[in-house]
Amino acid sequence: SMASPALLMRVVASAYSVAEKAATIVRNVMSAGDLGIVEKAGPNDLQTKADRLVQMSICASLARKFPKVTIIGEEELPSDDVTEDLIEDGHCEEILKKPCPAQYTGIKEEELVIWVDPLDGTKEYTEGLLDHVTVLIGIAYGGKAIAGVINQPYYNYEAGANAVLGRTIWGVLGMGAFGFQLTEAPAGKHIVITTRSHSNALVNECITALNPDTVIRVGGAGNKIIQLIEGKASAYVFASPGCKKWDTCAPEAILHAVGGKITDIRGNPFQYNKEVKHMNSAGVLATLRNYDYYASRIPNTVKESLVP
Ligand code: AMP
Ligand code: MG
Ligand code: MG
Repeated sequence: SMASPALLMRVVASAYSVAEKAATIVRNVMSAGDLGIVEKAGPNDLQTKADRLVQMSICASLARKFPKVTIIGEEELPSDDVTEDLIEDGHCEEILKKPCPAQYTGIKEEELVIWVDPLDGTKEYTEGLLDHVTVLIGIAYGGKAIAGVINQPYYNYEAGANAVLGRTIWGVLGMGAFGFQLTEAPAGKHIVITTRSHSNALVNECITALNPDTVIRVGGAGNKIIQLIEGKASAYVFASPGCKKWDTCAPEAILHAVGGKITDIRGNPFQYNKEVKHMNSAGVLATLRNYDYYASRIPNTVKESLVP
């Protein structure tokens, strides 16, 4: 008989199903019409009923199956008992059948940290820019993002009533990433993708210095990494604090699994151990290809303005 699947593959297989349930909650809250918007730090830092319900669903579902794993979610919520209808206990069989990369077969529950952004792109969700929204479940080991699941609940929503709504992208370092078509950005063009709702003078100064052919402004860290791996943009550039570890962990694992690179604006890798500071204070620089081209053109003045 087959040996039971490695812990990492069981966690990823469960996270896949948990993210699909999360996407259903995101869609149901929107169609019910009462978003229950709460301002956190201010009008550009929002929380909705979907952020709250999805975080409860993801964290409680994963904690029930993997009680010794550390799970860190974006939202601060009262530790009320989670109702049973929010629990997902399924998993993706197809993922469980895949062999775990050898370097990860011995991982124990207490060595994993899961970073959860229940709804990335909340501002855009409240404004009806629904395809900017993603659900992010990132899995870290030894301080590194090694696996991730990104669900895009409204993928295809402009394709008409017959299109299948939503998709789940997942990946593991050493294995690859699945659920999308890896596509190169147009050769010789510099298409920079950045924030839509969190711009400031430094963000814009940095982009101008790169002299891009095109600038795309959209919400969500998850959404921007999807645009990189689908060839819609060549670099994600965000020269500002604001992005947190739960924004970058799942996207980083998927981007790295297909040969891309993400760091802060100064070129430092992100750390994902449970004690790490949540804020990515020195911004984000990510590419699928040609990382060095962009990194070498970030002005020193911009780098010096951002302290990790
Ligand atoms: P954006 O590209 O603006 O959608 O940002 C990507 C992620 O970082 C989202 O989760 C944002 O909420 C978060 N973020 C970026 N800048 C800020 C900020 N100034 N305040 C709060 N959250 C931010
Ligand atoms: Mg986010
Ligand atoms: Mg969020």
